[in-house]
Amino acid sequence: MRLATIGEGGSRVGVACSDGSIADASGAIHDLLGPDKVDMRAVIVHFGELEPTFCELAAAGGRLSPEEINFSPPVLDPSKIVAAPVNYRDHMEEMYQASHIDSLGVFLKAPSSLVAHKGVVKLPYHDRRFDQECELCLVIAKVTRNVPVAEALDCVFGYSVLLDITMRGGEDRSTRKSFDTFTPMGPWLVTPDEVGQVDELELRCWVNGELRQEASIADLIWAVPELISYVSSVMTLFPGDVITTGTPKGVGPIDDSDRIVAEVSRVGSLAVTVSAKGATKSATRGASTGALGAEGEKKR
Ligand code: MN
Repeated sequence: MRLATIGEGGSRVGVACSDGSIADASGAIHDLLGPDKVDMRAVIVHFGELEPTFCELAAAGGRLSPEEINFSPPVLDPSKIVAAPVNYRDHMEEMYQASHIDSLGVFLKAPSSLVAHKGVVKLPYHDRRFDQECELCLVIAKVTRNVPVAEALDCVFGYSVLLDITMRGGEDRSTRKSFDTFTPMGPWLVTPDEVGQVDELELRCWVNGELRQEASIADLIWAVPELISYVSSVMTLFPGDVITTGTPKGVGPIDDSDRIVAEVSRVGSLAVTVSAKGATKSATRGASTGALGAEGEKKR
């Protein structure tokens, strides 16, 4: 099943139908769960009760078209976005990094950095380099702590596409990757039964129509189950939390008016534009330090 957060302010939940349309499931959610605010986290928590009705909606067809709809990030306010820093060997090489996730662990992106499919990535500074990082991400189904690798996929509610927009330099990752609009995500949240084998998925990313990234999810250093298991050994995961799995080689600078399309097979295609309107001088001085500091730039 493919679900989306839609409507003004992300106030409704849509179900993708077999005929390509979208059905607004908000009425069905109210009927089953009561009059509270409709959001994806409630859908995740109560999916067992909702699923039969959602299946009927998907089969019947809806009134909305994906082209005309306003998408919001699939989960509006996850308690956290956990991200894998260096989880593909070819990206480790292109960044002149000596270590990968095995020694780095994970980092956090601010949930307030989320932006929707068809949204705008706003570059804050005119004197810094910003890159696109296309990633497969997943959303957690239930409260999860210390889950073994063998059971980790049972904790996944669904998969989506995420762009981990990044300022290069020596500032802490949580700063460089948490500017507002630096986490485009969507359009869909796709349940595991529809995704199938995760390591068969393929990821591609284009900037202005030029293919920059192309990889197999099978090339992850820590595969999805290992990553979930590890994260859950550090922190309790809650329904709706996002874990993003890392990016392969092919990251590169983005600039004003660029158009980024990020795609994961069987999961979806996420498109955003970039704007440097209102960009100012950088507030910090990390430009020539960090992974791609002066030395990395020279080698490029
Ligand atoms: Mn990343």
